Amino acid sequence: MTATSTGSRTAVFPGSFNPFTLGHADIVERGLKMFDKIVIAVGCNINKPRGDAEAAAEAIRRIYRGRPEIEVVVYSSLTVRLAEEVGAGFILRGVRTVKDFEYERELASVNMQLSGIESVILFSRPELAALSSSMVRELAAYGEDVTPFLP
Ligand code: ADP
Repeated sequence: MTATSTGSRTAVFPGSFNPFTLGHADIVERGLKMFDKIVIAVGCNINKPRGDAEAAAEAIRRIYRGRPEIEVVVYSSLTVRLAEEVGAGFILRGVRTVKDFEYERELASVNMQLSGIESVILFSRPELAALSSSMVRELAAYGEDVTPFLP
């Protein structure tokens, strides 16, 4: 974890990013219309060892090389604690479906209770609404070319 952002218009964009797709990249670019800085935070936990998260983070850093307004970190704490650490006043997330909506509403409400932090939710672009990391992983497992879904 190396983020040092202090501005109030910083958002954390947390996720598994396994892998980071065009859907995620679209949320980042649209988020930058509202925020000066976005910290993409790759979570690691028992299911996702730190080494895997570091590799994912490195791949995302390569995508955004030369973009100082985008920082990529790996974290294992609560997202609200990471947000406090990097001085982010907002959590950025995306919603594709009603299923996402229910999940995101719960997360946002817990995070609000924990720290008062605001979650900013962007609806996915219609053409990206069916795109998920799990779908990309499944196609890749069948040997399909997944590059059209990745930034
Ligand atoms: P998590 O495991 O925390 O849900 P993901 O990496 O799957 O992490 O997703 C991170 C965030 O990006 C979530 O808010 C998710 O809803 C959003 N997201 C994922 N794919 C898309 C997409 N195609 N369009 C918009 N938002 C998306």
